[in-house]
Amino acid sequence: AKGAAMVTAVAQRLASQRKEIDDTLAAFALSPTQLQEVKAKMRVELERGLKKDSHPTASVKMLPTYVYRTPDGTERGKYLALDLGGTNFRVLVVKIRTGMRNSVRMYNKIYAIPLEIMQGTGEEYNMFTIIILYKLRNCISDFLDYMGMKNTRLPLGFTFSFPCNQTGIDKGDLVCWTKGFKATECEGYDVVDMLREAIKRRNEFDLDIVAIVNDTVGTMMTCAYEDPKCQIGLIAGTGSNVCYMEEMKNIEFVEGDEGQMCVNTEWGGFGANDNIEDIRTRYDREVDGGSLNPGKQRFEKMTSGMYLGEIVRRILIDLTKHGLLFRGRITERLKTKGIFETKFLSQIESDRLALLQVRSILQHLGLDSTCDDSIIVKEVCGAVSRRAAQLCGAGMAAVVDKIRENRGLDNLEITVGVDGTLYKLHPHFSTILKDTVRELAPNCKVDFILSEDGSGKGAALITAVAQQHYTDKQE
Ligand code: BGC
Ligand code: MG
Repeated sequence: AKGAAMVTAVAQRLASQRKEIDDTLAAFALSPTQLQEVKAKMRVELERGLKKDSHPTASVKMLPTYVYRTPDGTERGKYLALDLGGTNFRVLVVKIRTGMRNSVRMYNKIYAIPLEIMQGTGEEYNMFTIIILYKLRNCISDFLDYMGMKNTRLPLGFTFSFPCNQTGIDKGDLVCWTKGFKATECEGYDVVDMLREAIKRRNEFDLDIVAIVNDTVGTMMTCAYEDPKCQIGLIAGTGSNVCYMEEMKNIEFVEGDEGQMCVNTEWGGFGANDNIEDIRTRYDREVDGGSLNPGKQRFEKMTSGMYLGEIVRRILIDLTKHGLLFRGRITERLKTKGIFETKFLSQIESDRLALLQVRSILQHLGLDSTCDDSIIVKEVCGAVSRRAAQLCGAGMAAVVDKIRENRGLDNLEITVGVDGTLYKLHPHFSTILKDTVRELAPNCKVDFILSEDGSGKGAALITAVAQQHYTDKQE
């Protein structure tokens, strides 16, 4: 009888622990109704961003790009492309041959941006931006030497994966730094002007900066070069963002009603007006509070690679505090920011991996786990990444339905060009994203294609399209 009582006691304890874990993760499970609401709210914010009155204060900024069309295959020429994205800086030469698709050749060199530069040294905003641009200029100089091209003056496209308030294809005031870049103040200085000035001061080479390009736009253009139905660009990587071709007449704050323009939504800012507080959890708030830009980019912090691991870590700390994990011991390692990179989440969630391997990954991260621990960690990762994919899907559903309505169609067929490590590496993210879009936008048939090096190729294609555009206008 004593034995039976003990078994019952253990069973009860396990059941109550199970319940605590389930309750914690339940906050990450969004119901179909909640997802519909996210879609509807995103739609409202897309509209608010486009309207003249609400544009200046909109949470989804809907920035104009001055890209009026996708490539049509007539683009050609030799271009220089710069790409400042997450942590690296790349300089490329891109050659596009005319008439034929798939005929782009590239040479590139990658430069690391040191962390002390990315996160400043308490420098004021403007100094910070200048220091980064000076660093870029020096990399360009090195690259031109390396290619033996110091004396050729090539047209240049600059892929700059941060929000820029553009007033022309080559004019962009930085709205604010995001992701791993820290700068306290946000003021609108023109990034292209500042880079031109930096180059001039070195007085060593000359460049013709034709276009500044968001990475979403580069991705869309690269994929559209292969598939004319591609009119949306999505990044699901370190950051999260979408661009798409919008009707000029709907972009109220840009002159002109004819044709289309690509709009950089900056949907990562969704939630800034507290409209998704109902689905944010205390872990989301903790991650936000500990980030480089508290209060900003709330949607991005629930959907992108830079933050998912952090959400996971916060949950694990909480479960450990409650004695549900790691024998109740919070190690220094677990307290370390950024230990769960996207690649670890992807590995942990891979179905091909046995639990033993999950344990060895955790071991590798310095987390000493039991077999039960590894099951729980995997569940936590799954809950967080599933929600991320569903939220992206809900946002995408809002975008495709908007495009469908813009065109007065009952049914829309459209392609999304995608880039980003979360989409490319994670074992379930892309599937869940697609399923969600299908459920929430049943009248749209949405294809997703991967972009091959969208930021480099795309910048060159936009530069080519822009040059044609302005030559046409002069004729
Ligand atoms: C930036 C966007 C960018 C996205 C993906 C976000 O943090 O605000 O401009 O497109 O990251 O790189
Ligand atoms: Mg207009």
